[in-house]
Amino acid sequence: QLKSEIIAVGTELLLGQIANTNAKWISQQLAMHGIDVYYHTVVGDNLLRVQDQFNQSAKRSDIIIVTGGLGPTDDDLTREAFQNISNVEMVEHKESMNKIETYFKKQNRGMTPNNKKQARVFAGAHVIENNVGMAPGMVVSFDNKTWIFLPGVPKEMKSMVTNGVLPYLGKMTGDSKVIKSTMLKFIGIGEATLEHELSTIIKHQTNPTIAPLAQEQGVAIRLTAKADTMEKAQDLIERTQNQIFEKVGTYFFGFDEQNLEGKVFGLLKEKNLTIAAAESITGGMFTDKLIANNGASSVCTGGIVCYDSKVKENVLKVASETIMNQGTVSEECALEMAVNVRKLLGSDIGISFTGVAGPDATEGKPPGTVYIAVSINQNRDYVKKFIFHGERQTIRNKAVQKGYELLLK
Ligand code: ATP
Ligand code: MG
Repeated sequence: QLKSEIIAVGTELLLGQIANTNAKWISQQLAMHGIDVYYHTVVGDNLLRVQDQFNQSAKRSDIIIVTGGLGPTDDDLTREAFQNISNVEMVEHKESMNKIETYFKKQNRGMTPNNKKQARVFAGAHVIENNVGMAPGMVVSFDNKTWIFLPGVPKEMKSMVTNGVLPYLGKMTGDSKVIKSTMLKFIGIGEATLEHELSTIIKHQTNPTIAPLAQEQGVAIRLTAKADTMEKAQDLIERTQNQIFEKVGTYFFGFDEQNLEGKVFGLLKEKNLTIAAAESITGGMFTDKLIANNGASSVCTGGIVCYDSKVKENVLKVASETIMNQGTVSEECALEMAVNVRKLLGSDIGISFTGVAGPDATEGKPPGTVYIAVSINQNRDYVKKFIFHGERQTIRNKAVQKGYELLLK
């Protein structure tokens, strides 16, 4: 029987500023997979003490799971500590590097050598992709022991354990039980509210496990069931799924790989409806996501990027009085944009986006102010105002997402 242990690295844990919830959660996961955990250790961000701990753990355990200290700052020492005790070389992981570079370009921020550190992995390591953050995780076989390095951020750590570590360990230990995992996706409800709504279910449920995960689009819940056969695992998942739907089913929009725009696209196609968008603040991103779907021509007639007010007026035929009196960032302008794009491009539905992406205010409206209008026919036209927070691109992305969210209804 393999012995495992968990080491959490971080001075804030020792200072009592945060609790070691990572070890708690990982232990639960390992227990479910029949892997015995013998020790939980917390060690501060100190190179020598981390090394000491690693040496000690190597003597007593077969699987050593380390969380924290993989970040870009100087107090993130996990890599250095393991390198010092093992002499395993570090190499750059291309995909992670690309990802970090893309991120910094997007943020318009310069990269420091520290940031590059996050893309370094041990030679020969099995790399676990980080879908939620930057630093990848690693499984390293060294001296007959399996070392698993994970970020400290719980969200990142959990997603990596579920998607990378557990499958890896399952193979390694030859665990004969099968594991079935399903993602339920929700929109229009925050992570905290979702967790709160489901707290009793989560508390009393061990198989399947229930893990809420924040997503780019809304929130997801991962259900992971373990059973002798796939059918039995599926049964377990469906039973819990139904309990969850009873509580928060109205916010559910899809399983697994389903995304919001794909869902909306499918609904429109099913109902035989076409759509066209007038996009100011979103600059074509809404239409882009629609056209990314196969068979887009049966759903999307087109779009107009009407960024300048002249284009709103001359191309989209928004009344000049509207622009003069109400401004381009207004309910009235948004509504006219939606109605006109529907008529001009001959679609069943028109949707429009106008707002202030920032960083400066426009027409006296603060950054983040966005109007989205939907025109289906005269009686069912509506417009909504939103205040989104974040940087320019975040605001624009949120506007696109909200547009799709509105169309779900
Ligand atoms: P980062 O890239 O954010 O620096 P990291 O891998 O270096 O990630 P840490 O810096 O150690 O990880 O931790 C990041 C954050 O994750 C901490 O501020 C803390 O909030 C949380 N965290 C770290 N370790 C744990 C733990 N054992 N239990 C719960 N939360 C933790
Ligand atoms: Mg850190």
